[in-house]
Amino acid sequence: MSEMLQQMQEEELTEQQLIHKVNKLSRQPIKCPISNCAETIFPTSMLMHMCHKHAPYTVHAEMYDHLPLTLSFGPAEMAKDEVKCVATLLYGGIKDRAETQPGRTYMSMPNVDHFDSRDDARLKHYLPVMLLACRTTWFAQLQDKQLEQHLNQFQENYPGIYLFWLAAPATTRQLYYTLTVHDQLFSRSRSVVRAVRNLLQPQYPHEFMPHEDNYLHLTTGELEQLLTSSTATTKKGLQMELVLYENPLESTMLSKQSKDCMPRIKGSVPQSIARKLSLTKRPRHNAN
Ligand SMILES: [Zn+2]
Repeated sequence: MSEMLQQMQEEELTEQQLIHKVNKLSRQPIKCPISNCAETIFPTSMLMHMCHKHAPYTVHAEMYDHLPLTLSFGPAEMAKDEVKCVATLLYGGIKDRAETQPGRTYMSMPNVDHFDSRDDARLKHYLPVMLLACRTTWFAQLQDKQLEQHLNQFQENYPGIYLFWLAAPATTRQLYYTLTVHDQLFSRSRSVVRAVRNLLQPQYPHEFMPHEDNYLHLTTGELEQLLTSSTATTKKGLQMELVLYENPLESTMLSKQSKDCMPRIKGSVPQSIARKLSLTKRPRHNAN
C-alpha cells in the first residue's frame, strides 16, 4: 500500500514538473519565417496562422509519429535568400492515441486561438511545424558577414545551394525528423536525421548556418540530378519523404505498444543513433 502511495506521489511530482516546464516555455511573439509574410504571431496562435494564411499555398497535412509523408516541391521559382514554406504540418503524436498529442503530454502549449469549427478545435493539442526552404550560397556559412557580403557582390554567378529544414514553436522536448530527397526512380537519394528548430531562433540560413547543421542541403548540381530521372528528360518536382518522431530509436510498432508516451532522448541526435536508423525508405503515404 505504501509502495503504491509512493508511486502515486512520484507520478504526481513528475506531472507537476512537466506542467512547470511547459509553463516556462517562452510566450514571446514569433516573426513568421516566410519572407513574403513576416507577420508577428504568438506561439499559441501559430497553428491558426499557418492554417489560414499559408496552408492554401503549400502542402498541408496532419502528421503522426514515425508515419512518413511524401511530397513534391518545385524549386524553380526560388529567389535567392528568400525563405519559402514547402509544407504546413500539424504533428499529433501517435496516430489514434489522442493522449499522446504534444499539448496533452506537456511537450508544447495548447493552441488557444479562436477555432471556427469543431474540426479546428480537434487540433487544439497539435504542434504546428513548417518545412522551410531557401536558395543561398556556401558563403552563408561564413562567420565573417562582411566577407560574405563582399563575396556575394563580386561572385554573383557562384553556384548556389538549396537548404531544407523544419521549425516549430518552442517545445519542452526535442522533436526529430528524417528528411529524404530522391529522384523519380529512387536511383539517387539523400537523407538526413535532424532536430526541429525553434521558431524563436533566426530562420535565415546566413544567420544559422555558421553555428549549426540542422538542415538538409543540396548543391545546384545535386538538385539537377534529382530532378531529372535516369530515363526521363523532363524535369519534375523534387520528391521528398518526411518522418517526424520524438524518440529516434523507437519504431512505429514500439511507439504504439508503449504505455509510456514520454520520450527519453533530449538534445541533438548523436552520430551513433543516426547510424542505426534506416535512412532510405520507400514512401508509403501521400500528402493530402
Ligand atoms: Zn506567415
